[in-house]
Amino acid sequence: MTAPTPLIAGNWKMNGTSASLAEAQAIAEGVGDCPARVAICPPSILIHRMAQALAGGKVLVGGQDAHWDDAGAFTGDISGEMLADAGAKLVILGHSERREGYRETDEVVANKARAALRAGLEPIVCVGETLEQRKAGRALEVVTGQVRGSLPAELAGQTFSVAYEPVWAIGTGLTPTTPEIEEVHRAIRATLVELFGEHGKSAPILYGGSVKPGNAAEILHADEVGGALVGGASLKAADFLAIVRAV
Ligand code: PEP
Repeated sequence: MTAPTPLIAGNWKMNGTSASLAEAQAIAEGVGDCPARVAICPPSILIHRMAQALAGGKVLVGGQDAHWDDAGAFTGDISGEMLADAGAKLVILGHSERREGYRETDEVVANKARAALRAGLEPIVCVGETLEQRKAGRALEVVTGQVRGSLPAELAGQTFSVAYEPVWAIGTGLTPTTPEIEEVHRAIRATLVELFGEHGKSAPILYGGSVKPGNAAEILHADEVGGALVGGASLKAADFLAIVRAV
C-alpha cells in the first residue's frame, strides 16, 4: 500500500474576519503544485465566502467542529450539513480545546464523526495527552484509548485523518522530540490497523502542536507523520506556506 497523501490543515480557531480572506487568497496563490493536500479551517462564519473565493483551486476549506445531530434545537451549534452546504469539505473534530472547554468525550466525538460522514465531510479526529498524563508515562495508553473511542466503525472505507496533538504542545512553543512523535504515531497506526484492517494504513496521521516554519521539515519527515494540523502559524500566509513547502 502506498503512503497516504499528506494533509496540511490550518486551524484558524476564533481568529479572522472578512479582512482575513485576503490571507486565504495568498495561501491559495502560493501553494503551487505542492505534493500535499492543503486545507484552511476558518471560523464557520467565513466558510462560505472563503469556499467561494478559493473555488476551483487546490486549497480546501474545512470546519472546526460540527454537531452530532443533523438538525434541531441546539442553539448556537452548526451541523455538518450546514458546513457542507457552505462549501466545507473537511471538519476538525475532538480538538483538545473542545474536549477540555466543552467536556466533549470520546463518545461525543465519535457521534460527531458519524454526523460528519452523513454530511459528506472528511473528519480530522484529534487526540492527545496532557502533560500530566505524559509525565505519568501514560501518553500511549491515553492516545490509543482516544483513537479507539473517538473513531466510529463507520469510518471503515472512508477518507479521514487522525491528528496527534499533545495538549501541552498546543500554542505553547513546546514540541515533543521527533522520537517521541514517532512513538505515538506508530502506536496510532497500529491501532488504526487493529480497528480498520488494511484501510487503517491509508489514513494520514497529522502532527499538531507548535508546528512552525523552523521545525516543520523535521516533523513532517518523521516516520508515520502524514501532515500537520497547524494553529497559530496558519494565520500568516508566509508561515503557512513555508510549512506546506516543507512536505
Ligand atoms: C491546534 O490548535 O490545532 C494547534 C496545533 O495549535 P498551534 O499550532 O498554535 O500549537
